[in-house]
Amino acid sequence: MAMANKAINLASVGSVFPSSVDKLKKSSSSTSVHKKLRVSRFPSVKAVQSPVESGTGRWARQRRPQNVDGDFFVDHTCIDCDTCRWMAPQVFKRVDGMSAVFKQPTCKEDRLNALQALLSCPTSSIRTEVPPSDILEAQKTFPIPIDEKKLPGVYHCGYHSEKSYGAASYLIIHPEGNILVDSPKFTERLAQKIEMLGGVRYMFLTHKDDVADHGKWSKRLSCDRILHSQDVEVCTTDVEIKLEGTGPWSLGEDIMLIHTPGHTEGSVCLLYKSVKVLFTGDHLLMRESGLDIMEIYNKCSVPAQLNSVEKLLELEFNWIIPGHGRRIEFKDVQEKNTILEAFVQEKYTQHSSSMNVIRSLHV
Ligand SMILES: [Zn+2]
Repeated sequence: MAMANKAINLASVGSVFPSSVDKLKKSSSSTSVHKKLRVSRFPSVKAVQSPVESGTGRWARQRRPQNVDGDFFVDHTCIDCDTCRWMAPQVFKRVDGMSAVFKQPTCKEDRLNALQALLSCPTSSIRTEVPPSDILEAQKTFPIPIDEKKLPGVYHCGYHSEKSYGAASYLIIHPEGNILVDSPKFTERLAQKIEMLGGVRYMFLTHKDDVADHGKWSKRLSCDRILHSQDVEVCTTDVEIKLEGTGPWSLGEDIMLIHTPGHTEGSVCLLYKSVKVLFTGDHLLMRESGLDIMEIYNKCSVPAQLNSVEKLLELEFNWIIPGHGRRIEFKDVQEKNTILEAFVQEKYTQHSSSMNVIRSLHV
C-alpha cells in the first residue's frame, strides 16, 4: 500500500519529532508488552440547559420528567453526548433532545452497564435516588475490554471528560508500549488500573479538542504525548512529540498515524493494523442517526475533511472507533469502502448545494 511505503518509522527517524528524539529512544518501563448506516447532521454536544435555582439559593440538579420512575435517572444538565445510550442502550434513550432512563435495570448486567455509564457521563448527569452500594465494583471494571476476541488488548477507558466535550478515550495494550488514545478524566483509580495493565508509553491525542487532563496523565504515567503541531494550543505547548507535516508516521511495526485535516487542521487518526481498527477522534464518527463528520463543528474546511475521509479508502481496516458515538464494525474492508464512498459522495453533494445557496444569497 502506497501509504505504508511512505511511512516514517518514529523510532528511527528522529527528525520527524525534533522535540522528543531522546524520549522516543528511551526504554520504557511501561512496555509489556450493521446495521444500515444512515447519514445525518446531528450535533454532538449542545448547550447545557440552565439549571434550576433551589430554595437554598444553590443551583439544583433536577430529575428530568422524561425518566421512568425508579432509582436511576438523568438530570437537566445532560448535554446529549450519547455516551450513556451506547454504553447502556437497554436503560437509556434520547427523549426530547436529552438522555433519559426509559427502563430501569432489572438484572445485574444492565445495572453494571448503567453504573458504568453513570461513571462515564462527562457532566455527572446520571444519578440514583439511593447511593449505589456497588459503585466500587463498577469502578473496578474500567478500562473495559471492547471485544476480547476481535479486538484483543483494546479497552474503553470510560470517565469521559467535559473538558473533551465528552469524548471517549481508549487504551491499546501493545508489545512495543501501550498507547492511550485521547484523554479520559483523570482519576487515580483508573491510573492504577492502567498501571496494572503495563502503564502507558504514548498518549496519542487525535486533535486539540480531546486533550482533557493530558498533563496529569502524562505526569502520572510518565508517558510521551503526541499531537500534531497544527493543533498545539497554549494548554498543549509542552507535549513531548509534535507531529510535523502530512505524515503518515509509524509508531512501531503496526501502528500508523494518518493526517486527516478538516475537523481541525491537525486532526490525526491512528490505524492499529494488526486488528484493523482505526481510531478517528472527531474526524469521522457514528451517531445514533448514522455516519457523521459534524460539519457544524468543523474548524478548518468541510471539503478538506471530506478529502481526508476519502483518504481512508486506501487503508485496511474494518473497525472505526471514534471519539464520539458508537463504534462501527464493517463486514470487511470492501464494505467499509463502499459505505465510505457513498457517504463522501452524499456529503459533497450536500455541501455543494448549500454553497450554491450561500452564493445565490450574495448575488
Ligand atoms: Zn473535535
